[in-house]
Amino acid sequence: KLSRRLQKVASFIMEGSRFADIGSDHAYLPCYVCQNDRHAYAIAGEVNEGPFQSAQKAVQTFDLQNRIEVRLGNGLQILDDGEVNLAVIAGMGGSLIKTILDEGKSRLGSVQRIIAQPNVDERSVRSWFSAYGYSISNETMVEESGHIYEIIVADKNDGPQSLTDRQLLFGPSLLNQKSNLFYVKWNHEYKKRQRVIEQMKRAATPDYDKLDVFKKELIWIEEVLHDGS
Ligand code: SAM
Repeated sequence: KLSRRLQKVASFIMEGSRFADIGSDHAYLPCYVCQNDRHAYAIAGEVNEGPFQSAQKAVQTFDLQNRIEVRLGNGLQILDDGEVNLAVIAGMGGSLIKTILDEGKSRLGSVQRIIAQPNVDERSVRSWFSAYGYSISNETMVEESGHIYEIIVADKNDGPQSLTDRQLLFGPSLLNQKSNLFYVKWNHEYKKRQRVIEQMKRAATPDYDKLDVFKKELIWIEEVLHDGS
């Protein structure tokens, strides 16, 4: 059974999509989508040999060889021009996702939608989207095994989107929704930042610039949690 996290990711893939799943690991996501949507077609990309073989095995097990192609290679480089209209990059750190997008931006010509699920550092992903002409059309949070994950959906050609520093940190849609999970996550982050600030202050030579950034963010979190925006 597919994890709740990846089910949520799948819910943003339009029916009949031709999509790439970059860093597919066991190819659970493309297998699930193609089993539930007989018009879907997928390319699963993996940079590592082990996961690449797991992906191939899964595709064979479900007899989906004619619907899912598994390719070995780095990031979006496995794609040829115009092959897919959607790309998923899930389950890695935000800065790695940003690097993959950045190094592969020439392959994104036909890609209308990118679904990113960074495990940490969501901000780098949002800032890449806003810098490269994708606007965030939806975001959601999902809790799994004690971690709260963010899923960011970005669409091309919705016009430019400039995001404030707060929107980059919290997510423009997540900030509008302010779901229960949003409060859980940011209460937790608030305490975490408080601890970090205390530690930084005790350092032999405190990094005051960094300290200021953390303090500023702590105030943002406070305001957002207490209904400012
Ligand atoms: N996408 C799946 C998910 O969300 O459950 C799997 C996530 S798994 C933790 C991350 C996968 O990304 C690993 O299998 C790793 O080999 C792959 N990966 C890391 N860097 C990559 C890159 N530059 N290009 C393609 N795959 C990469």
